[in-house]
Amino acid sequence: MSEYPNLLAPLDLGHVTCKNRVIMGSMHTGLEDRAKDLPKLAAYFAERARGGVGLIVTGGYAPNRTGWLTPFGSKLSTRREARGHRIVTDAVHAEGGLIALQILHAGRYSYHPFSVSASALKAPINPFKPRALSDRGVRRQIAAYVDCAALAREGGYDGVEIMGSEGYFINQFLAERTNKRKDRWGGSAENRRRLAIEIVRGIRQRVGPDILIIYRLSMADLVEGGQDWEEVVALGKEIEAAGASIINTGIGWHEARVPTIVTSVPRAAFTSITASFRPHVKIPVVTSNRINLPQVGEEVLARGDADLISMARPFLADPEWVLKATTDRADEINVCIACNQACLDHVFAKRKASCMVNPRAGRETELVLLPTRRTRRIAVVGAGPAGLSAAVTAAERGHDVELFEADDEIGGQFGIARRIPGKEEFAETIRYYERRLELTGVKVHLGHRAIAADLEGFDEVILATGVVPRIPSIPGIDHEKVLSYVDVVRHGRPVGKSVAVIGAGGIGVDVSEFLTTIDSPTLDLAAWKAEWGVTDPLSAPGALAKPRPEPSPRQVFLLQRKPGKIGAGLGKTTGWVHRAALKNKGVEQLRGVNYERIDDEGLHLTFGPKHEKPRVLAVDTIVICAGQESVRDLAASLTAPVHLIGGADVATELDAKRAIAQGTQLAATL
Ligand code: FAD
Ligand code: NAP
Ligand code: SF4
Repeated sequence: MSEYPNLLAPLDLGHVTCKNRVIMGSMHTGLEDRAKDLPKLAAYFAERARGGVGLIVTGGYAPNRTGWLTPFGSKLSTRREARGHRIVTDAVHAEGGLIALQILHAGRYSYHPFSVSASALKAPINPFKPRALSDRGVRRQIAAYVDCAALAREGGYDGVEIMGSEGYFINQFLAERTNKRKDRWGGSAENRRRLAIEIVRGIRQRVGPDILIIYRLSMADLVEGGQDWEEVVALGKEIEAAGASIINTGIGWHEARVPTIVTSVPRAAFTSITASFRPHVKIPVVTSNRINLPQVGEEVLARGDADLISMARPFLADPEWVLKATTDRADEINVCIACNQACLDHVFAKRKASCMVNPRAGRETELVLLPTRRTRRIAVVGAGPAGLSAAVTAAERGHDVELFEADDEIGGQFGIARRIPGKEEFAETIRYYERRLELTGVKVHLGHRAIAADLEGFDEVILATGVVPRIPSIPGIDHEKVLSYVDVVRHGRPVGKSVAVIGAGGIGVDVSEFLTTIDSPTLDLAAWKAEWGVTDPLSAPGALAKPRPEPSPRQVFLLQRKPGKIGAGLGKTTGWVHRAALKNKGVEQLRGVNYERIDDEGLHLTFGPKHEKPRVLAVDTIVICAGQESVRDLAASLTAPVHLIGGADVATELDAKRAIAQGTQLAATL
């Protein structure tokens, strides 16, 4: 008997059977945008199909140029383009998988000057103002969707997903927020949903019964002026009647000020909304958002919240997610920790998406890990993300690997990160490496600070000794009220009621959240919803309520010397969440400061290049988060070939993404 009977049960969809209840949801990788990258996309999807996922949905393809997300981005509007997709669909079918193409018209989210929408209203997250479509213009967009679906069938797809949520084109017609029209496409709820219904009906008429039509329906817009619950349910029923095969859940517009997928969102936070919707239709309903482990998916399905689950990023992290669940190896899953650092942040920066915890994602044809032809003895010093990834990759390739770690546990700085409220998921990566060390047979020496003598006799030495906190030279830095972030987060040293945090990079921001949080909201869905103002969509349009964050137990000042915005270096998709969380907790942010001295009175500051406006922060504790310095003193005393990776190599702008990628890449070449 499987541990996941609901998750792994097949689902009869009429003309096809989905072999389990797991969908790989749509996620733009950047490989969709150029025809030359289709072979890479094919390899990427084939690996996921081989890993057992029931159904794959591609990243979004615009049905015409007007709907482009970005200029010259992914589009499917010609037969030539459709033929090019055969390499992708054939590769997935060869692995026994099913694949649907997502049709995404960006509407006013199009990042180009020729965008169109229901009304000429600029989105707050896009500098380009859209043109309001004429009646004929609306009908041309519907025709483009229908043509695109027919081309998808020609390209070998088993179905299409119509993106009707996240604030894109169709959603812009559905909500009064963005639809101010007075014609048959606006005004009443019935008129506003006409576009969505006609698209689905038109596609079903053109493509016939033997193709899946998935409709991604926005069940909670999470914006002012969003649809109310009656509208959501009525839309679902009409979408079903128009010929959809499956309804997928969409949560939140891109311009919403409520986080929906970052790591601080509790697991499966929104599946209760799908559960409220499900009884209103007969076709299968999919739920999504922050489901990352088989146990979580199983609980969601066993509760009856949905018929299927959809996950996108977890399949970047581990293509074998389903296979491992099926073969009783869930403890081997490389879990998506919802950091967005190598996937969505890359896409926003117009870089190809990959995964922080799996640098092979999207690079399956480039980062190939072949068995070694010559087994060597390799010593890895340091079990932070860099050393761990190097050690397990080298061992998996057949090398004889020993790993030395000074601490009594693995993880390095990442082990500190996981103690930050809202970053509990980071523990999954450490757990994954623990298991992989076991499976690959790496000999681990914990609590062993390696010296040169330990490393004699090895063919190669990898120094992954990481970083230590930088201690800035401020007069009085030795005062007893000064602690480093390691003292506070790792060693739990007591902190007073008022605190100054020196340094406002990623760690300064995290430490401020640590100091202003009593219990982690990630672990308590009700507290998280109260903090961000999320309510039941049955009781408020768009599921929005007034945010009621828990008050901070301390007064915190967050300081930086630069005059610019605090947290400017944080990821595009996560930085705003951290800044909003600090604001919610009343953290006072001071920029352009000079640290003059520390004494019994507190921290003495001045401002600006002329050292003006002196101010004393009469705080109990000062926490130093002023960056790090590399640890690599061992390098000079070693005779074997030495490789420096992670923080030991370069401390500036170090993050776990670089550390893991560097460790994996090095081990792939040894
Ligand atoms: P380290 O993690 O520093 O590991 C080095 C290891 O080497 C240590 O365990 C150390 O004990 C060991 N060592 C040193 N000398 C020896 C020796 N002689 N013998 C044996 N062992 C030795 N990064 C992100 O990407 N995203 C985040 O959200 C994020 N959040 C963070 C939040 C906090 C609070 C902190 C502190 C860090 C965060 N980071 C984050 C940064 C990330 O953890 C680091 O970039 C990463 O851990 C660096 O990896 P590393 O392997 O190079 O070094
Ligand atoms: P960081 O981002 O480089 O920030 C260091 C901070 O210290 C800056 O605010 C800097 O600002 C200040 N500083 C530097 N030298 C100083 C000095 N001599 N005296 C006083 N202040 C000084 O580094 P970090 O916060 O230590 O983070 C380390 C790495 O972990 C980062 O590269 C980051 O990518 C990663 N990380 C990422 C996340 C995430 O959410 N993605 C979270 C945490 C950490 P001023 O010079 O202006 O004062
Ligand atoms: Fe998940 Fe982070 Fe990997 Fe993106 S980069 S898939 S969020 S672990």
